[in-house]
Amino acid sequence: MARNIGILFTLCIAVAQCYAQDPQTLIKDPTVIAAFDAIKRNEPRMLSEQARICEIAAPPFHEEQRGLELKKLFEELRLENVHIDKAGNVIGTRSGSSPHPNVVLAAHLDTVFPEGTNVKVTREGNIMKGPGIGDDCRGLVTMLGVIRALQEANVKTPGSLTFVADVGEEGLGDLRGMKQLFNESMRGQIDQFISIDGLGLGITDVGVGSYRYKVTFKGPGGHSYGAFGMANPIQAMGRAIAKIDAFQVPSNPKTTFNVGRVGGGTSVNAIPFEAWMEVDMRSADVNSLNAVNDKFKAALNEAVQEENQRWNNKGPVSVSAEMVGLRPAGNTPPDSHIVTTALEVSKALGVNSHVGEGSTDSNVPMNLHIPAITIGGGGSGTGAHSLGETYDCTDSWKGTQRALLLVVSLAR
Ligand SMILES: [Zn+2]
Repeated sequence: MARNIGILFTLCIAVAQCYAQDPQTLIKDPTVIAAFDAIKRNEPRMLSEQARICEIAAPPFHEEQRGLELKKLFEELRLENVHIDKAGNVIGTRSGSSPHPNVVLAAHLDTVFPEGTNVKVTREGNIMKGPGIGDDCRGLVTMLGVIRALQEANVKTPGSLTFVADVGEEGLGDLRGMKQLFNESMRGQIDQFISIDGLGLGITDVGVGSYRYKVTFKGPGGHSYGAFGMANPIQAMGRAIAKIDAFQVPSNPKTTFNVGRVGGGTSVNAIPFEAWMEVDMRSADVNSLNAVNDKFKAALNEAVQEENQRWNNKGPVSVSAEMVGLRPAGNTPPDSHIVTTALEVSKALGVNSHVGEGSTDSNVPMNLHIPAITIGGGGSGTGAHSLGETYDCTDSWKGTQRALLLVVSLAR
């Protein structure tokens, strides 16, 4: 009998935990209700914060100043162990009853805009305008709004939450913040990862990976008439481009290639000594990406061989390919806990979220098979990565409420 009571008791705990995980139930929790109220109440202040953070320039590889501001805000919001890691990621913890599961919520500090860009933000009604106002100042502010509401409403979580304002998400930043976070700073300590990037209320569970190269063809070069008869780096590159252009790639998983820039040569009457091109290849599938990458490398070697044979190895041409970008590919299965929970959270809030693919900070954990998604920060906008970027803050608080309910649902 005692044993039966024990089993019954264990069952009850299991059932209670089951219910506790359900966002539809959690949304009725008094502390979650209080946090939701706080989010709505705080939103005007958070939008001013969004403009203020956006006006602290964070060009590629120079996120320091904005990072220091986030560190200050993390400290003011009473996160624990607030620090900046080797790459420049700002990290702060909100402990639960136990260190695990440890759910990380992140947004990126960097923008695509070079140093010297006018980062002034203007606002007319619900429309805010300024470079980076949505991507990813909204993500940073949605994250700050979550922390503020959790603190004000004293929401308790069984697991722990870690907040990260990270560096190097854009372009040649090459996800260096995430590579540092997952490979060193928090290696083995992250159970679930959510990046807030982009606007709206979508969910990204597929990480499109990319390989980028700068390829250089070299030869001795010479006079176009006097030295005629030697291999030509630009013509070798032409052969390579023709081969690349003929690649057959799958449409599902979508796999792409592009020769984006070319250059070289010195004069119309000189056989060039150098030619270069920049190439980008992408796929959501690691194997497809590697397959097109293999074809690309073979094409370079074949092109050089053919060019050298054509000219009987006179003034031979050589090629080298320098990798200038590697965003790993990956995906989080649609039936995984993190994706189904994100969909349930949206449903509990009456939001119809669609699931799609993207190239974001989540690529790194997805590639490591750590459950990860990227979510929009709420609101809407236009012109990401352009000087005329806008953010429409109509109902933007919904993004913060959804992010909060998601981390609270996962941290147990
Ligand atoms: Zn972004």
